[in-house]
Amino acid sequence: MEKTFLMVKPDGVQRNLIGEVVARFEKKGFQLVGAKLMSIPKELAEEHYGEHKERPFFGELVDFITSGPVFAMVWQGENVIATARQMMGATNPKDAAPGTIRGDFGLTVGKNVIHGSDSPVSAEREIGLFFKDTGVVEYSKLVNEWIY
Ligand code: ADP
Ligand code: MG
Repeated sequence: MEKTFLMVKPDGVQRNLIGEVVARFEKKGFQLVGAKLMSIPKELAEEHYGEHKERPFFGELVDFITSGPVFAMVWQGENVIATARQMMGATNPKDAAPGTIRGDFGLTVGKNVIHGSDSPVSAEREIGLFFKDTGVVEYSKLVNEWIY
């Protein structure tokens, strides 16, 4: 089953939006298979955002993502990578449609609440970076006989 890496950024954690973000993906029908509140070491931030290292905002981006805890998650489900990107909305909240996470809660491109993998290759790379020690949890949502 397809998996993606999603992360509530430090602005979202500080603004108490973890529950709101998790609720949207749960209600959509995706399955949470990994989650942790963590501080990102500088080296991990630079590696995670490596594709942007020549961009003028790279230093600012690394400083921001390491400025406070993030809530890192792995979600699973059919077409979860592309659907999560749609649910997040455009990178710049000023262009993000109402109803999307960035459209509803973000104001500036630097502080846009959420990160999500943009392709299957990125998803595998990012899950590997953030969940290499703990792995993810595979489980069935089908009701077990001892839960009713
Ligand atoms: P996305 O997060 O939608 O995949 P990108 O991968 O292009 O977007 O950029 C990574 C992050 O870098 C964005 O989420 C945003 O927080 C930040 N960013 C992108 N463009 C700019 C910019 N022009 N100025 C400042 N920060 C930016
Ligand atoms: Mg990106």
